[in-house]
Amino acid sequence: MPLRRTLARLAVVAVVAAAACSGPPPAPQRPARPPNVVVFLVDDMGTQETSVPFQTVASELNRVYRTPAMERLAREGTRFTQAYASAVCSPSRISLLTGMNVARHGVTNWTLRQDRSPDQPHPTLQPPDWPRNGLTTPDRPIAGTVAATPLPALLRAAGYRTIHVGKAHFGAIGTPGADPCTLGFDVNVAGHAAGGPGSYHGEHNYSAAWRNGDRIWDVPGLERYHGTDVNLTEALTREAIAELERAHRDRTPFFLHLSHYAIHAPWEDDARFRAAYDRAGLAPRQATLASMIEGMDRSLADVLAALDRLGLTDDTVVLFLSDNGSPAQCPPNLPLRGHKLSPYEGGVRVPMLARWPGVTRAGTTSEACVVVDDLFPTILECAGIDWRDRVAQTVDGVSFVPTLRDPGTGAADRALVWHYPHQYSGQAPWSAIRRGDHKLVHHHADGRLELFDVVTDPGEHHDLAAHQPTLVQQLAGELGRLLRERGARMPTRQADGSPVPFADAVATPR
Ligand code: CA
Repeated sequence: MPLRRTLARLAVVAVVAAAACSGPPPAPQRPARPPNVVVFLVDDMGTQETSVPFQTVASELNRVYRTPAMERLAREGTRFTQAYASAVCSPSRISLLTGMNVARHGVTNWTLRQDRSPDQPHPTLQPPDWPRNGLTTPDRPIAGTVAATPLPALLRAAGYRTIHVGKAHFGAIGTPGADPCTLGFDVNVAGHAAGGPGSYHGEHNYSAAWRNGDRIWDVPGLERYHGTDVNLTEALTREAIAELERAHRDRTPFFLHLSHYAIHAPWEDDARFRAAYDRAGLAPRQATLASMIEGMDRSLADVLAALDRLGLTDDTVVLFLSDNGSPAQCPPNLPLRGHKLSPYEGGVRVPMLARWPGVTRAGTTSEACVVVDDLFPTILECAGIDWRDRVAQTVDGVSFVPTLRDPGTGAADRALVWHYPHQYSGQAPWSAIRRGDHKLVHHHADGRLELFDVVTDPGEHHDLAAHQPTLVQQLAGELGRLLRERGARMPTRQADGSPVPFADAVATPR
């Protein structure tokens, strides 16, 4: 496979002025030149896997890990303490590209092989039929997918160069969505169907072949680094910066989706950073993870430095986030409960930082509830693109540009919804809703409803369901209504083939 594929550009915008986004907020009209946008997406990074605290008091893990570039971004922009994603990879990534909530796009689990679901057997439930081939575009209909107008296609039509670097994980092997270039990206470096790399090591050609692993995880298109000691995270960073330089040279605004494979399994040392964590006395497995976290952060440092060097910092929106919480094999997300796949905050709450010079205020914190679905309308608003009559899908996300301007502003009267109707890796099917300070979790197998105040009890230690039946009924009613409205698919009972009832049916007094 060639190192990268660049599609012919359809249009080149005339650039009439630069630096339109500096100065006092808010800009009342579309800037003469729209800002560049960098989405720096980390895989499987929990809120604690950083030296930046995403809660009031620094946690133990905040003191263990070193992420100085994230600290810089937090100093220069806004830190979001209540940002959310889905509990697993593909659902979050498709929400990011489409603005659709997971219950609406229906890609509720991770994708890889065509027409196959990774579900594992549940003792009493059968998973629903779901679009297990992932995302496609309206002009490429294919069975088992969801069709939508993707974010990069809208940006490209508006004159942006759209650059994907790293993990894609949007569609199954052999389907159009496996290739980011069919989803509106001009450039694809190293993205394909798989949601993890065979190896992070150039010495192993980023493949699991050296340990007789499945070649399905081979990272495509980085042959120039094969046989070298360049870590995958560093290789992706060099390629991303080369693309930034090219776009700058061509005087073209860019959308860079730098989507690291790090810090997803396999957990392998980033040799540049391991020794310091050994000296600090970390157990070997955690020292490995810490080295990967610092490697990821070095990438952020290098990208920020490249923007500085090219004089682009003031004209570029930078959004940093993860696609789900840290996995069960990693140190717990304390003080949060749970991990990747689970309905608790450790599964769905993610670290998020935003910097838009002239719009965000340096060193601010926002407690606004935002979710990965929101990036679609937010980025399009940043770019000044009127998208509402141009997309095939219903968009659930809400632009948080007002929060970027004023971190105290947020969509207060808003419900966030999650849906995971699958059995996988020890996690049973569930749905959940958050409104205000409270979160209701619906466990599909036994109909159990749990209620938590996630503001006063972010560790979700105290189930309030028995004490607040009225609130349970209200939230269950809204969860059921929103899941039905969005066409959510529920599991069925093996005993009689009947669908699991929505939460409102469970909560209704008999
Ligand atoms: Ca992930």
